Amino acid sequence: MKVLDLRCTHGHGFEGWFASNEAFDSQLASGLVECPVCGDTAIVKLLSAPRLNLSNAKAPKEEGRGDAARAPAAPATPSTQVSASSTSPEARWMRAVREVLAKTEDVGDRFADEARKMHYGETAERGIRGQATPEQTEALLDEGIPVMALPIPAALKETLQ
Ligand SMILES: [Zn+2]
Repeated sequence: MKVLDLRCTHGHGFEGWFASNEAFDSQLASGLVECPVCGDTAIVKLLSAPRLNLSNAKAPKEEGRGDAARAPAAPATPSTQVSASSTSPEARWMRAVREVLAKTEDVGDRFADEARKMHYGETAERGIRGQATPEQTEALLDEGIPVMALPIPAALKETLQ
């Protein structure tokens, strides 16, 4: 089994697993190798130096929750990390969610109260997250308080307390 570092013409890097280099070549020629991000079939094979790191970005799997917690003040720019190898849309979504989690305070079921207090200037503006019932969310929106539903991937939920 060969693991190849591949890249499409849009610069999306990803890994492909093939029985051999020949298998890759023939699948590529048949248009069977496509970018998991954009579906591009114009794929190039990158130099297969062991784990060649083409950007400064770390692979998503190396980015633990710990990193986000340790450096919440460093504004990450996900868009510059898109070309990191083995970056999937899912991985990018996870990273975006992690970023939100790192920058917001968990107020749990006090969310609706806290959002309202901030809106009316009773507490300082800050990023918060928490749980609100559909009724609470609707009431907040009715009052002109912007709230956003953020589905948290199950894999991340497990790492939260
Ligand atoms: Zn692509």
